[in-house]
Amino acid sequence: MRSYQNFIGGEWGGAKSGKTFQNQNPADTREVVGEYPSSGSEEARQAIDAAAAAFPAWAATTSVARGRVLSKASQLLEARKAELAELLTREEGKTLAEATGEVQRACDIFRFFGGLSYTIGGQTIPHDLPQNLLFTRREPLGVVGLITPWNFPIAIPAWKLAPALVSGNAVVLKPASQAPAMSMELAKVLAEAGLPKGVFNVVTGDGRAVGGELATNANVAALSFTGSLKVGAQVYQQLAQRMARAQMEMGGKNPTIVLADADLDLAARLVATAGFGLTGQACTATSRVIVEKSVAAQFTEKLIEKAKAIVVGNGLKQGVTMGPAVNEQEFKGNFDYIDIAKNEGGTVAYGGARLSDGELAHGFFMQPTIITGVTPPMRIAREEVFGPVIAIIAVENFDEAIAVANGVDVGLSASIVTRDLKKAMLYSERIQAGVVKINQISTGLALQAPFGGVKKSSTDSFKEQGAGAIDFYTRIKTVYLDYSA
Ligand code: NAD
Repeated sequence: MRSYQNFIGGEWGGAKSGKTFQNQNPADTREVVGEYPSSGSEEARQAIDAAAAAFPAWAATTSVARGRVLSKASQLLEARKAELAELLTREEGKTLAEATGEVQRACDIFRFFGGLSYTIGGQTIPHDLPQNLLFTRREPLGVVGLITPWNFPIAIPAWKLAPALVSGNAVVLKPASQAPAMSMELAKVLAEAGLPKGVFNVVTGDGRAVGGELATNANVAALSFTGSLKVGAQVYQQLAQRMARAQMEMGGKNPTIVLADADLDLAARLVATAGFGLTGQACTATSRVIVEKSVAAQFTEKLIEKAKAIVVGNGLKQGVTMGPAVNEQEFKGNFDYIDIAKNEGGTVAYGGARLSDGELAHGFFMQPTIITGVTPPMRIAREEVFGPVIAIIAVENFDEAIAVANGVDVGLSASIVTRDLKKAMLYSERIQAGVVKINQISTGLALQAPFGGVKKSSTDSFKEQGAGAIDFYTRIKTVYLDYSA
């Protein structure tokens, strides 16, 4: 077991109460993976104060100097990739291959923003008059709060932290309690890379107390949140009340449309990868397949074959392709949704059961699950499950498929499988989603491209990732200079 403390002002320390909480390995709950301080608003305030004290000196450095720290952090992370991936799997449950990919993503994000540091600047604008210079400066905001979910415990902190830091902000991060280890390791790596004390602070503990302090404290200039709609909506209101800058990224109910002309083997492979990969615990996971009736039965058969081939087990074990649910609550939630779907008239075409034989007895393992006979009003067709459960909705044609896809109040990622270029392009125009994938999995993002949802998936104010991520973490100042006199 690893024992961690909060990282505040460059020092490690426990919660004032002395209380801690522990995390178990979801593949084997007999193993305790980490112990963390049960902090509250007081520790969050200390971290905010430490960040506020460190901000002026950090903001006064050049973006290039800050970028060097990020590039160094990327190298240090890469050197520890295997160790961190194993720890990530133990704490969150995803397979070692998935965890290794995620740690690599964090390395790449730091490398990307390290390089981008050479380009962060303003703009010159033609003035109406001669001998006048009109230009903009990009400035950091101050103390920025970050609140992150458990499902990508290193990639999401990294994709918020890197643009925040390179822009010159000081940061307080509150990671999700289900998987804080990676955030703690990021603090170690950044300190080793030369980040000054107080520029990055991490506080673990209760969401309402620690996260609530970040949302309400007047010294936090902006807050970037990724998590559930329920919590995001509440935090957004707290930020709006004091007119603080907000970036809220929440869940989805991501559709994959399968048209009659599609290569059905490809469609089944894409849907199985995007729906069951990462145990379905991705915000961009495919959770609805909207398929033309004429090929629905054939497609479903092929998807069942893919589901049967999935090897469920401890993600550290070679050959395992799907790990456990992250904890008991999420695990139970998955079965609740399967019951709700059955009660509303859906049929479990495959899966639906807990797996507890032999080595699986002490973990939160379940079969990948396919539910057919789903209609758009059913809850399984509208609400995020966040587990390996795919709902299949059969429709008459392309237009109905789009109407069904758009008939929910969220819009994060959306994919289509077809050979018809015109329909694929019309889909990209008409679908209400932040990301559109054509003949690709709905999960998986390019770190250099903008990412974010629409509708209730996001406040849709600023994009994350890519060079545009800097926009959220900086403000523009316009400077007028007259040298004619
Ligand atoms: P969650 O909303 O339960 O928790 C997210 C974070 O908020 C955690 O750090 C939690 O401790 C904190 N929190 C809880 N209550 C709080 C409060 N009252 N005030 C302030 N902070 C509080 O979400 P989760 O279960 O960790 O993550 C899963 C959700 O995240 C899913 O809905 C998923 O779709 C979404 N998600 C979205 C994206 C995206 O980029 N859009 C990416 C990954 C996950």
